[in-house]
Amino acid sequence: MSDIEVPESHPRYESLLTRHRIEEGVDLGITSRQGLIAQGRGEAFDYLIGEQTTASADEAERVAAAYLLLADHPVLSINGNVAALCPGEMVELAEAVDADLEVNLFNRTEERMEAIVTHLREHGADEVKGLTADGRIPGLDHERAKVDADGIGDADVVLVPLEDGDRAEALAAMGKTELVIDLNPLSRSAQSATVPIVDNIIRAVPNITRHARNLADASETELRTIVDAFDREAALADAERAIRDGGE
Ligand code: ATP
Repeated sequence: MSDIEVPESHPRYESLLTRHRIEEGVDLGITSRQGLIAQGRGEAFDYLIGEQTTASADEAERVAAAYLLLADHPVLSINGNVAALCPGEMVELAEAVDADLEVNLFNRTEERMEAIVTHLREHGADEVKGLTADGRIPGLDHERAKVDADGIGDADVVLVPLEDGDRAEALAAMGKTELVIDLNPLSRSAQSATVPIVDNIIRAVPNITRHARNLADASETELRTIVDAFDREAALADAERAIRDGGE
């Protein structure tokens, strides 16, 4: 047993644990009620994809690791679902690739921003950006446009898990390399990504960290070769095929 009353051998253990973490996130004031709806949508896609990391998603995760290692200023964006589902794993990834963490909310309230920053610190984060909000993403309305000028505002590579479509498109339009984790390959976020990672965030983030550690000693040329070989259209098509065929 772990933090839920379900044995780990239960066939839906991972899914139930994920659901429990989101519920707890709502109770802690970290996750919005709309986050529950996003979770439900994600679960449906995960069920169809077979609740596993496909070979194609694993490759996208390796490419994401290479992009993060090549970046001048990588930033990992955190929303209420991400903070509830894998706070410690995001902190570990930030350490592995020397990235900043920035809280970035669709429904921004100072209370929720503070709660998430505190939650991340409790999971080992040192500095967490997002509270200064002195930068803007062009093309979005006031609250949703807010970012830190020296965080996402200045980043060349941004990992945006579970981002809403508008903001993902606006970030891409700023010329940033966008690494998107989203179980729906048809979502605008996945469609606008440089690297769409169609996988559950709870599997994807530790796997990107594993790849980053394996690639830690790779040369810039080797990393560029990995990045250049990536075909985003093929990755999206693979994911859609896996969903239609019920997993690989
Ligand atoms: P679009 O990008 O088309 O505008 P949206 O903004 O309506 O979509 P939301 O409901 O705001 O999408 O965001 C939720 C997205 O995150 C959904 O596409 C869902 O599949 C995905 N998602 C939810 N939970 C997870 C998870 N644990 N791992 C990966 N993706 C997830």
